[in-house]
Amino acid sequence: MTADDGSRSRLAEPSTPPAEPVTPPALGHETTAGARIWTNWARTVTAFPGAVHQPAGRDALVDVVRSVAGRGGRLKVVGGGHSPSAIAAPDPGTDLVSLARHSRVLDLDVSRDEVTVEAGIRLDALVGFLATRGWALPTLGAVTAQTVAGAVSTGSHGSGEGSLDRYLSALELVDGTGRVHRLVPEADPALFDAARTGLGALGVLSTLTLRVVPAFTLSATVVARTLDGLVEELDELSSAGWARVWWYPHTGRVLVWRAHRTAERPRPASTLRLAADRLAEAVHETALWGASTVPALMPVVNRAAATRLLTSRRTVVDTGDRVLATGEGIRRQVLEYSVGADAVRGVVAELRRAVARGGVRAPAPVELRFGPAEAGWLNPAYGRASCSVGVVGYRPFGRAAACAAWFAAAGSVLAAAGGRPHWASAHAHDAADLAGRYPRWADFADVRARLDPDGVFANAYLDRVLGPCDPGHQRYPEAPDGPAGSDTATR
Ligand SMILES: Cc1cc2nc3c(=O)[nH]c(=O)nc-3n(C[C@H](O)[C@H](O)[C@H](O)COP(=O)(O)OP(=O)(O)OC[C@H]3O[C@@H](n4cnc5c(N)ncnc54)[C@H](O)[C@@H]3O)c2cc1C
Repeated sequence: MTADDGSRSRLAEPSTPPAEPVTPPALGHETTAGARIWTNWARTVTAFPGAVHQPAGRDALVDVVRSVAGRGGRLKVVGGGHSPSAIAAPDPGTDLVSLARHSRVLDLDVSRDEVTVEAGIRLDALVGFLATRGWALPTLGAVTAQTVAGAVSTGSHGSGEGSLDRYLSALELVDGTGRVHRLVPEADPALFDAARTGLGALGVLSTLTLRVVPAFTLSATVVARTLDGLVEELDELSSAGWARVWWYPHTGRVLVWRAHRTAERPRPASTLRLAADRLAEAVHETALWGASTVPALMPVVNRAAATRLLTSRRTVVDTGDRVLATGEGIRRQVLEYSVGADAVRGVVAELRRAVARGGVRAPAPVELRFGPAEAGWLNPAYGRASCSVGVVGYRPFGRAAACAAWFAAAGSVLAAAGGRPHWASAHAHDAADLAGRYPRWADFADVRARLDPDGVFANAYLDRVLGPCDPGHQRYPEAPDGPAGSDTATR
């Protein structure tokens, strides 16, 4: 089909300014002292960038990259700031670029089930756009305030349907010298699989093409289990599609959430229900604040949270995006690892022992989500069917609740089980340790050395987890005029 037969809707010419630029939270605020401050959503990281750029259009973005690279600087591209780790934090005094003004839907091609977007678009804007045309994204995590580029760059995932980056079919990337690469998996699967979960280390993604599916309605149900009952059910849950497990430590309670497609009409929550949810969240936050002063309260708080969820939201029938994206909730630090699906039974047993041994107060829930093997070289689920195990450390009313002991205990269980940390979560691994966890680690380093030889896109976090850029790294075969098979242009 062609552009003339109605199957494609070209939505905006790339040269026109974005209709509704989306500004990420807390971007480059000026303080009274004149300093520029960037903070992430969780308020776990604060950074002090130098110049802040908000280019509109690919050419303006290339100019920013060239000008920073030309003076030997560092440039951090930030998305929605929803990574609790410091992955998106610019180093002090270095340049920050936001694609908030580079955030349009460029093309919806229903003959190919694909949408092409500028990289700064937020997931909620894209989801809303698709919904009005009867389409949806195949997978979604718990929130939609991230940018599409930020979500794919960290391997962000939902439950059952895998990571967002598995649905990419084309990418445009501006590398550390300002060259533009148009990547498709057919031409160079290796380079594509490096770039699809690139951590922001290979370049600035400029446009992305993603697979879409017809809009769907989900029916989701929550049922209660014991921890012993859960262990029996784990094998089945790992292949159950949309499924999440919430374990409430110190209570013996487990809730299992499952969803399936339905032909029923969506029944969105009433205004009253939404108001009740907001009130319950405020009560929960207050209780967590109390437990941060009196840790012995944690079991009571966890039990109350489980009871409320079970009684208020047992069955929900609604559009896929509203069922899957449950909302931001209380600000929190997160420790999340992806472990092989066959390791999850042992992990649950070890975490249970860690809580039973005492000495930790574990907020709830501990969340388990299952997913298929992924192709992105640095996707935590690379090459193996996986279970992501998420541990929370709330920050009620901005207070950093003491979760260090619990994070340390859970982190050592998950790391010992061969876990790979979510790049956006609060792990302490360094490159030397992570290299052994990713089979294509050295290949990624080669691609990085070629696309960003001077480390323009590095920051302190990437220095730690990837190591410094090494332009001498040359294992990955290079084509005479650019990365093998990719379409490379100076603009
Ligand atoms: C409340 C909450 C719920 C969450 N739920 C989930 C979940 O269900 N599943 C899950 O997997 N994760 C989840 N996350 C984590 C979240 O999906 C990731 O942190 C994601 O990366 C955030 O996207 P962002 O746009 O905020 O990116 P940022 O945090 O701003 O940046 C993340 C990385 O992406 C890079 N980046 C951003 N834009 C570009 C670009 N154009 N080109 C190249 N690199 C770029 C940045 O440089 C940085 O390295 C959650 C986070 C929060 C706060």
